[in-house]
Amino acid sequence: MDTQVGIVGAGPAGLLLSHLLAADGIESVVLDARSRASIETTVRAGVLEDHVAELLRSSGVGERMDAEGSVHHGVELRFAGRGHRIDFNELTEGRSIVLYGQHEVVKDLNAARTAAGGDVRWETETTQVTGVLDGTPTLHHRSGPFTDELRMQRSGDVSELTCEVVAGCDGYWGPSRRAIPEALRTEYERQYPFAWFGILVEGPPSSDELIYALHDNGFALVSTRSPTVQRMYLQVDPDDHVDNWPDERIWEELHTRVRSETGSDVVEGRIFDKGIIGMRSFVCEPMQYGNLYLAGDAAHIVPPTGAKGMNLAVADVRVLHRGLVERFRTGSTDILDRYSEVCLRRAWKAQRFSWWMTSMLHRFPGNDPFQLRVQQAELDYITGSRAGSTSLAENYVGLPLEIPSAAPAT
Ligand SMILES: Cc1cc2nc3c(=O)[nH]c(=O)nc-3n(C[C@H](O)[C@H](O)[C@H](O)COP(=O)(O)OP(=O)(O)OC[C@H]3O[C@@H](n4cnc5c(N)ncnc54)[C@H](O)[C@@H]3O)c2cc1C
Repeated sequence: MDTQVGIVGAGPAGLLLSHLLAADGIESVVLDARSRASIETTVRAGVLEDHVAELLRSSGVGERMDAEGSVHHGVELRFAGRGHRIDFNELTEGRSIVLYGQHEVVKDLNAARTAAGGDVRWETETTQVTGVLDGTPTLHHRSGPFTDELRMQRSGDVSELTCEVVAGCDGYWGPSRRAIPEALRTEYERQYPFAWFGILVEGPPSSDELIYALHDNGFALVSTRSPTVQRMYLQVDPDDHVDNWPDERIWEELHTRVRSETGSDVVEGRIFDKGIIGMRSFVCEPMQYGNLYLAGDAAHIVPPTGAKGMNLAVADVRVLHRGLVERFRTGSTDILDRYSEVCLRRAWKAQRFSWWMTSMLHRFPGNDPFQLRVQQAELDYITGSRAGSTSLAENYVGLPLEIPSAAPAT
């Protein structure tokens, strides 16, 4: 064996798993098709549930997050021209979220792995995963550099990396999931009839907390990535194109959708990135096959409205880490045998929450006025009822984690 755990993907799931395993003396090799610089500069998620922030701290990679991230104690829902705050602190016994970019988390994990002499191989594309059932788990891979990261150059010699266990942390498009025979996996998928037009803005935050707005024109989200970089989104048609959105149109539409009776809080700045993100729900069952375990986006995708994508990836990794420690220390696979069952239970709850937030806050094709009234009534109920607000708050900050413990020795 070349290593104990072969990890495909150096996103948050793969890197965190490697980092946690190293602390328990378990060896891993991480392969990623993209360059380190490309992964570290791609801005994606930015909301960390409190258990994620706590794990980063307790595992020694939370220092920069605590210095540069911001703790939010609530979010605002804005509809029918009025804003309503959901107070996490009060509704969830003092819990909160941390706003800190996924790419910053990745930078911190990369720095920690590099400092510890960890084996992370960027620009190394896994082409196939074999032998996970009864042979020797093997990652077939080839090295870059690739001329185009999205359409990787199909050339170069294929090498093999053998391991005892494969962690498929390679996102939706990676090869790991395909190592589970089609007949043995069920994939659940839902496409939404809208997309998010996202911008990155150089400038100060528009508000102390995130604003989720439902307007007749569609959804808008005012978020942040740092004190100087802001993230804002507008619901658009999935076939829309960034060229249709000059800066003036973006600001006008954001002001319109976010404006309340006290005015628009949107603070304009220099837009330095624009992109359209499709919205989809996806779950693969099971998440394990022989010695292969899928984690993060390789197994499930959520629409970003509930801010659950990266958090769910971390929750998978926590269970997988615990199971692998038990396996390599004692030889028992009791926890690993339940990996899929435990992770899917959380993944489906996150799907439900993300689907519900998405359905409540977006305009559907046809602009049915009846539906808008029902959505406003639901928001009115959620913000007016302590039970409704608590339900949103406890899902947003993160449902309790289920991390199985090792069976007591008999
Ligand atoms: C554009 C975009 C915006 C998003 N915005 C938000 C948001 O605002 N809020 C939110 O909560 N979530 C958001 N998400 C989702 C969130 O970023 C993901 O849930 C999170 O990245 C999951 O982490 P992961 O490690 O499982 O997968 P990833 O971060 O996707 O990492 C997978 C890694 O595997 C690598 N890989 C793929 N194929 C191969 C191969 N063949 N060989 C080797 N390596 C391979 C990839 O290069 C990648 O680095 C967004 C996602 C995208 C794509």
